[in-house]
Amino acid sequence: MMFKKILIANRGEIAVRIMRACKELGVKTVAVYSDADKNSQHAQLAEEALPIESYLNVDSLLRAARASGADAVHPGYGFLSENASFALAVESATLKFIGPSADSIRAMGDKAESKIRMKKAGVPTVPGFEGLESESDFKKAAKEIGYPVLVKAAAGGGGKGMRVVDDEAGLGEAVQSSAREALNSFGDDRLLVEKYIPNAHHIEFQVFGDEHGNLVHLFERECSTQRRYQKIIEETPSPLLTPELRKQMGEAAVSAARAVNYYNAGTIEFIVDPDTLQYYFLEMNTRLQVEHPITEAITGLDLAQWQIRVAAGEHFPYSQEQLTQRGHAIECRVYAEDPANGFLPSAGKLLQYLEPRGLGIRVDSGFRASDEVTHFYDPLLAKLIVHAENRETAIQKMQAALREFVVHGVTTNIDFMQAVLSHPDFAEGKVSTKWVEDHFKWNPPAEPSFESLIAAALADTLVPSSTSQVSSSNEIDPFSPWKNPNGFRN
Ligand code: ADP
Ligand code: ADP
Ligand code: MG
Repeated sequence: MMFKKILIANRGEIAVRIMRACKELGVKTVAVYSDADKNSQHAQLAEEALPIESYLNVDSLLRAARASGADAVHPGYGFLSENASFALAVESATLKFIGPSADSIRAMGDKAESKIRMKKAGVPTVPGFEGLESESDFKKAAKEIGYPVLVKAAAGGGGKGMRVVDDEAGLGEAVQSSAREALNSFGDDRLLVEKYIPNAHHIEFQVFGDEHGNLVHLFERECSTQRRYQKIIEETPSPLLTPELRKQMGEAAVSAARAVNYYNAGTIEFIVDPDTLQYYFLEMNTRLQVEHPITEAITGLDLAQWQIRVAAGEHFPYSQEQLTQRGHAIECRVYAEDPANGFLPSAGKLLQYLEPRGLGIRVDSGFRASDEVTHFYDPLLAKLIVHAENRETAIQKMQAALREFVVHGVTTNIDFMQAVLSHPDFAEGKVSTKWVEDHFKWNPPAEPSFESLIAAALADTLVPSSTSQVSSSNEIDPFSPWKNPNGFRN
């Protein structure tokens, strides 16, 4: 039985994305919004919108769900989407949680425990150690693994609490600062240490299952273009994978998901050494991923809709053999941030905001012109997704679309991504996860001065342009605006 009303426990582009899926399925939507989001697009797009204290407040969200009479909750990504207690609380309130079971979330929510589980399931993991306590434990472990090593938070996410350590001298400080950051961000200071794979590619597999035991993978996403361990550009297929490696990794991803009785949408992240093509399990994200649209483009499947449909009890109708990849898709994450200044978030009013359009171009966003971008939330403005026949044409389409994207009022990473896409290393598919930070030298284009902008605007107003002369002398067109008697002129 399809749901009647779904509460979307999220904000921004992902809330808008999920609302559209609901509307297409004929399901009513309930938005929730914080004080800062009172006028945001997601709150206006829903049939009903209710205020909440915060997107992390379970009681507040459940009160809104009860008040609206919703019969299901979609968590989106970030916030409470990977919180097993939230999933349980939703189900205890006799609402359906649109996602995997609380048990699957718990089993995969912790990087240390999930690695132990994956080793048992025969999925290759990055060599390393979990459950370390004292400084001498860490030293012994790092020595055995061999430097460089990576210290990371067991409860981590969003690239937080990670430190690369090149030798024993730097280990103590890295462990302390990593633990501190982990405690602050996740309320949990447990760490793990693992082999740092230099020049690695981040390649992840989308998995998808229904609640009747059908579980498949929907191929890979190459997410190596990153800054601060966070993705900026993703694409599929990955230029690194051969058909055999794709098959092997896809099977490993399905085994990983099966080991925790997974259903609904999930992602198995791997790190791949480009020299040996050895792959290692990194973590599982038990939710819909930011970059899911590129998978939708090449498979033709609406993942947000399928999440809802399988949560309502439907069978996922495709077997692994029936699924294919068609063409090439790329996503660019348009952030309100300043790449020339350490990728610091930029806030402000969107004075001008125009999205590109055209065949094979999709924009998922939660903003419109005149909206305010605040410092309270993730600085993601929009996701620009293109789909074309092959990698080369997809890159060209993306470059053209980025040129068309106009954002005034906040600093964005649009020019920066344009430069990455034009780099020969990107064209050759050689970008690894530390490439942006270690190899890419970027010189932002010079900003036009205020005076030159004013001069350009004045010139446009005062000097009759050639187009207006052509149009005004166009005697054939009866609808020509130049014949309009109300005196309007451009
Ligand atoms: P994806 O792998 O889907 O690209 P990201 O790691 O970029 O996901 O995270 C998506 C969103 O979720 C971001 O807003 C990020 O800050 C947030 N996020 C991810 N993991 C956590 C976490 N453990 N705690 C809080 N926020 C998180
Ligand atoms: P998060 O939960 O923050 O997404 P991940 O474990 O998925 O944490 O790692 C985020 C990123 O850090 C990866 O995409 C990759 O760029 C880098 N990374 C993580 N582990 C390793 C490793 N062992 N070697 C090299 N890079 C790594
Ligand atoms: Mg990750």
